[in-house]
Amino acid sequence: QRKFFVGGNFKMNGSIKSIKEIIERLNAANLSDTVEVVVAPPAIYLLQVQALLKAPAQVSAQNAFSETSGAFTGEISPSQLKDANIHWVILGHSERRSLFGDTDKLVSEKVKAALEAQLGVIACIGETLEQREKGITTQTVESQLEAIANVVSEDRWKDIVIAYEPVWAIGTGKVATVEQAQEVHADIRQWLEKKVSKEVAETTRIIYGGSVSGKNCGELATAPDIDGFLVGGASLKPEFIDICKIKA
Ligand code: 13P
Repeated sequence: QRKFFVGGNFKMNGSIKSIKEIIERLNAANLSDTVEVVVAPPAIYLLQVQALLKAPAQVSAQNAFSETSGAFTGEISPSQLKDANIHWVILGHSERRSLFGDTDKLVSEKVKAALEAQLGVIACIGETLEQREKGITTQTVESQLEAIANVVSEDRWKDIVIAYEPVWAIGTGKVATVEQAQEVHADIRQWLEKKVSKEVAETTRIIYGGSVSGKNCGELATAPDIDGFLVGGASLKPEFIDICKIKA
């Protein structure tokens, strides 16, 4: 009963011209509404994409701040996204965590603010290679999840999509095996059942990110607890359409 969810995170890539081409390709793809497709261009292109993109595909920001307005140079607030008709935001991406100081605490404040502004949140968690090799994948992912879960009331879990993105798989071409991804996704679902509720565990989408491609998405999509993908590099290419259609 969980609707398959495919996110395209363009990261800091693209231009007015290339993003127009990507969106026109999506518009021409005849996407089924049995899959939820959400694309996240750089902030400067959000309005361009919002104006051009056809339903059922939707637009997401890649980040937003934890405050509503004020002296926060360079930041965008969740209510400003809402005002611009953007209904999704990616929060806690590993690149934000490792390069821009998004700690668990800041991520949780951002999630709280985004939910208060009635946005949907694609909340990212995932371990580094070092953490995996140390055998602390579960602990790492669960503590990141706990920081987020602490600010989500039970009735708001419908607005959260959890993206499990192992850091070692992001942009490396080294995709997790189906077994590796399924194991962590099942852990996350069990954690939700134990700490939140059975219903939230059963209904929350847990999507996988990290070197997803047109070639490897089919096998990953067979895993019972993988409810979609967060796609980086491949979301800029024609194969993104194949990924969007893998379960449609
Ligand atoms: P890649 O698909 O390029 O590995 O990036 C994954 C990612 O970080 C999506 O948010």
